[in-house]
Amino acid sequence: MRTFTNLKILIRRAALSLFAFMLAFSSLPASASEEEPLTGTAFFLDTVTTLTIYGSTDETLLTRCWDLLDEYENLFSRSIEGSDVWNINHSEGKPTTVSDETAFLIETSLTYSELSDGAFDITITPIVDLWDVLNNPGIIPTDDEIDAALAHVGYEAITVDNNTVTLSDPEAQIDLGGIAKGYIADALAEFLKSEGIQSALINLGGDVQAIGKKPDGSDWNVGVLRPFGEVSDIIAVVQCDGDSLVTSGTYERYFEVDGKIYHHIMDPQSGRPTDNNLTSVSILSSSSMLGDTLSTTCFVLGLEEGMKLIESLDGFEALFITEDEAIFRSSGFPED
Ligand code: AMP
Ligand code: MG
Repeated sequence: MRTFTNLKILIRRAALSLFAFMLAFSSLPASASEEEPLTGTAFFLDTVTTLTIYGSTDETLLTRCWDLLDEYENLFSRSIEGSDVWNINHSEGKPTTVSDETAFLIETSLTYSELSDGAFDITITPIVDLWDVLNNPGIIPTDDEIDAALAHVGYEAITVDNNTVTLSDPEAQIDLGGIAKGYIADALAEFLKSEGIQSALINLGGDVQAIGKKPDGSDWNVGVLRPFGEVSDIIAVVQCDGDSLVTSGTYERYFEVDGKIYHHIMDPQSGRPTDNNLTSVSILSSSSMLGDTLSTTCFVLGLEEGMKLIESLDGFEALFITEDEAIFRSSGFPED
């Protein structure tokens, strides 16, 4: 059962990546599609990453991107012994020295925790572990177990002082799963741009960061998937020119008991999977990292509060999908 669930999720995520890739090519005219892109796929941080790079035949671009992914996984992974996050989580309240990148991600997380009154909270770890949605064979934790785990959730326990991170609760732990992929997508885009690449698509498990436009000068078409639909079933298409489109959805990781979905986006108030009638939130912006943070944040805040937050921020647009597949766009989110 355990293996089956994991396999299903992995296959689905590989398919999601591949699909965004295909969609990006679907409207290329014959002449432009004759230019063969460099393409590669790899698996890091539980995510299938697909790169599609135009304007270069230098295969080392791919290997250098994989090296970067490897480097970041070794900083941000919770399970790799000696990673920054592992060191923090095993510090038992003692100050931990971390890389600039990790300190920056934690500081950014704290900004969004404050902005969302704790809806986004990287100390959610004990709740994530308790539900263990990725491996869970369908066991729902008891109220007592949830209360015990919630006692160690609260971003106020984190202090960042330059490169030193301290958790005032020795049993608190952090999880950068809601922000790290976005940060990495931005870093890959920066790297490729610094190498002169002007047209590329970076796809981390369905979260897409575009560099420029397609080689024929038209925008990339990036699909928002229909929650729980087939992998090729899209509910909206977004035109991207150097933009990032990041989605948080219940269908990405979940288990089901008695017809109810228990997913991976946790509500730090209840200690349970967020239960607010949403199935997906996509954020369109120029920053994958902030798009990633805001997609998780808005999901937890819900349609009304999440929409309010997006409308209060410059440079971010959102598309919310509810359980009955109603779509709600922020005022500047493009129509299909
Ligand atoms: P995303 O898929 O970007 O929405 O992020 C979900 C991941 O972020 C989960 O798999 C957890 O690792 C982590 N997470 C879950 N709930 C929260 C939350 N309320 N705040 C911050 N991170 C969370
Ligand atoms: Mg996120």
